[in-house]
Amino acid sequence: MADLGVLPEHLAPLSATVDGVGELLVGGLAVSELAGRFGTPLFIYDEGHLRSRMREAVSGFGRGQVIYASKAFPTIAMARIVDEERLWWDAASLGEMKAGLLGGVRPSRMVLHGNNKSMEELRSAVEVGVGRVVVDSFDEIDRLERLAGDAIYVWLRVTPGIEAHTHAYVRTGQQDSKFGFNLANGDAQRAITRMKTSSRFVLSGLHCHIGSQVFALDSFRDAVAIMVELVEENDVEELCIGGGFGVGYLRDELVPSLGDWTHWLRETFDAHGIDPERTFVEPGRAIAAAAAVTVYTVGVIKTIPGVRTYVAVDGGMSDNPRPVLYGSGYEAYVPSRLFAAHDTTVALVGKHCESGDVLVREACLPSDLRVGELVMTPVTGAYGWAMGSNYNKLPRPAVVGVHQGQARLMVRRETVDDLFRLELGL
Ligand SMILES: *Cc1c(COP(=O)(O)O)cnc(C)c1O
Repeated sequence: MADLGVLPEHLAPLSATVDGVGELLVGGLAVSELAGRFGTPLFIYDEGHLRSRMREAVSGFGRGQVIYASKAFPTIAMARIVDEERLWWDAASLGEMKAGLLGGVRPSRMVLHGNNKSMEELRSAVEVGVGRVVVDSFDEIDRLERLAGDAIYVWLRVTPGIEAHTHAYVRTGQQDSKFGFNLANGDAQRAITRMKTSSRFVLSGLHCHIGSQVFALDSFRDAVAIMVELVEENDVEELCIGGGFGVGYLRDELVPSLGDWTHWLRETFDAHGIDPERTFVEPGRAIAAAAAVTVYTVGVIKTIPGVRTYVAVDGGMSDNPRPVLYGSGYEAYVPSRLFAAHDTTVALVGKHCESGDVLVREACLPSDLRVGELVMTPVTGAYGWAMGSNYNKLPRPAVVGVHQGQARLMVRRETVDDLFRLELGL
């Protein structure tokens, strides 16, 4: 096994290696060279890692279909990989749909989600012929019925009443939810009946998604049991159990692989005797998260004796809002000195005008860390770039894909001029 120095293997992209002096290479390229060439902050995606995770999911899930939940990292470059690996593409807006289409995903392998899809989004979905529209409300049924054209293939999203053990903001399967049709109060059954009797729809399946960053097998097992029963009672063909498989972000957070998850789900479905070809899963985070690292440059080191040391980098909550949103934890490393002891606790903070702009509250870094050095946070491939903002009018970082010694820009760095492209009144 490769010696990655202080970087735990489960937090590193699959192609990560460390050279004789402790420099991290991803996709065969030194992180410091990539930072020099593309600037910082920089997202570096290991493309081989993305493909491996997709293959793992597909082989673990057997004859079922794997849908990539695009919101984790919705780019054209990603869509191309998803298409090449024969996954489906899940979109929750016109923009995510367009990213998939521009990346070459066939519309028939797209699923459109959303708890408040606009008329424009629904019309586009029907016009391009997306594979399934996941109906989420009675208002949406009304809207779809007003659209002209052939019958629409739909799934119906059910909230099965499961309290998945995860952060409240990303829990979606409980009774009190803005998503889907409530099972317990009869709404789900009423919607199923309405769609089965309307000539506008082909109700091809049922869907549920209990939340994100979920680790408890019990939550998924309960969801499958409830949904299988509903599928059989109503004699519908397909069942999608959503995504939400948790990943490890911290040194001591070892979790099952995506292959294990999908294999376990396969067996759970099989135990219910459901035809594998009728089943779907929708992982996002578990495919993209550990594929990327974010690299920053240290700009300021401020020690307040007896209080703490702040290490400020050139990004922050605008490229990774997860710590602020959910209190999420990350680790930090100096990518060119992975053989150095990382034994001094500091607060790794961004450059935004908020005291909450903390990337890692208690980061362990070398005691002799200097201004100008690179620091990286691993496992930033999901919901980082995707949830980023231009807060403080900061341009978004570049995203580079690496594989076998080659680097290519997936998304160029935003310029300050880009930030004014929507503004009038000069
Ligand atoms: C976000 C989402 C997913 C993916 O969740 P992950 O935690 O990234 O796996 C799947 N399905 C739906 C409907 C979602 O909203």
